[in-house]
Amino acid sequence: EMFGQLTSGLESAWNKLKGEEVLTKDNIVEPMREIRRALLEADVSLPVVRRFVQAVSEQAVGVGLIRGVKPDQQLVKIVHSELVKLMGGEVSELNFAKSGRTVILLAGLQGVGKTTVCAKLSYYLKKQGKSSMLVAADVYRPAAIDQLVILGEQVGVPVYTAGTEVKPSEIARRGLEEAKKKKMDVVIVDTAGRLQIDKSMMEELKEVKRALNPTEVLLVVDAMTGQEAAALVTTFNLEIGITGAILTKLDGDSRGGAALSVREVSGKPIKLVGRGERMEDLEPFYPDRMAGRILGMGDVLSFVEKAQEVMKQEDAEELQKKIMSAKFDFNDFLKQTRSVARMGSMTRVMGMIPGMGKVTPAQIRDAEKSLKIMESMIEVMTPEEREKPELLAESPVLRKRIAKDSGKTEQQVSQLVAQLFQMRIRMKNLMGIMEGQEGSIPAL
Ligand code: GDP
Repeated sequence: EMFGQLTSGLESAWNKLKGEEVLTKDNIVEPMREIRRALLEADVSLPVVRRFVQAVSEQAVGVGLIRGVKPDQQLVKIVHSELVKLMGGEVSELNFAKSGRTVILLAGLQGVGKTTVCAKLSYYLKKQGKSSMLVAADVYRPAAIDQLVILGEQVGVPVYTAGTEVKPSEIARRGLEEAKKKKMDVVIVDTAGRLQIDKSMMEELKEVKRALNPTEVLLVVDAMTGQEAAALVTTFNLEIGITGAILTKLDGDSRGGAALSVREVSGKPIKLVGRGERMEDLEPFYPDRMAGRILGMGDVLSFVEKAQEVMKQEDAEELQKKIMSAKFDFNDFLKQTRSVARMGSMTRVMGMIPGMGKVTPAQIRDAEKSLKIMESMIEVMTPEEREKPELLAESPVLRKRIAKDSGKTEQQVSQLVAQLFQMRIRMKNLMGIMEGQEGSIPAL
């Protein structure tokens, strides 16, 4: 099973949460340690692991309860969405030239599966109805040229060769001419691979790139090499400028480090993955499917998603009722501010209010900071105080106590109370506008 070790490493994280009721700062310490260990064992690069663990912890502590969903299931869901993000979110498709021929330049160290990828790629394109031609520009290994010719025959695509005496950039140029004559949609150029990066290899690649002006420059990397693959992508990108990576040998006992590190470390997407030696074993890299495979918990994920949907729906309805009756209290306030997702929707709501204009990222950050301060004040309120903000509006003594318990100033508490009342008015007005009525400001 692909990434089996990583999958079982993560399982021990969920297991640490069995029997817990909610996710807290304290009870996620152990699971987070397991997650960290599993990722490091999978050979994910350390800075990536750090950022990942940080992001997951922050979300886990801030996440609201979802009825029927257990904390371990919630954590699975959070880890899943962070894994997807880590791998670039959306699938990154191959680009094709808007007009004329699409040129794909392939680079990579020896033995990573570059020659195989050339043939697989032309087969992949063929299935999409695109014709392609292979160009053998690896002049240092006659065997590599022969291999490309054989594979080309196997998948039924022409291979342009010019022996080993012609400069690679010249072969590339001639190959491109040939492809034009043959009216091929795509030209795939195989370049020389060395055992390790060296200056002449980089120079040669630069020259070939200049000669071709390629649509895609893809570095082929071996998944078995883990975070080293990510480092290679970074280096090649800095040296010659690439558009993405192709990750091979994902079928072997690779541990996942490459798949999880490439994007975050290099900033470049993995576009395709090789999952076997057969010609059909090349497919797009889907971050969400990959994350799903790593977790191996498809049913849990869809269950949590459904539960979240139901919650959102019910919350929205309840909130609307409250707003309409101007009963929006500190509990609602807190609910609204507890998750980043909800924060997003709140800033959108604020942005809709006439006269408030557009909300900038800096404003959102400031808002998030002040929301943290508000949270700490609301947390020390009694249930009655939360439900009846009027109590706080009327009593300086209560405000003083809340200031003391939350470590904030009395002025901050007063501001919070005032803000809640302003919010009521704004929201009520907003609902009024949305209902097609005139907004009115009720007396407080
Ligand atoms: P190159 O030196 O980079 O051109 O590498 P080759 O294309 O010659 O491949 C080296 C070896 O890796 C060959 O035995 C291939 O069959 C094998 N190989 C390539 N891609 C994959 C893959 O996705 N999975 C597996 N299991 N083997 C692969």
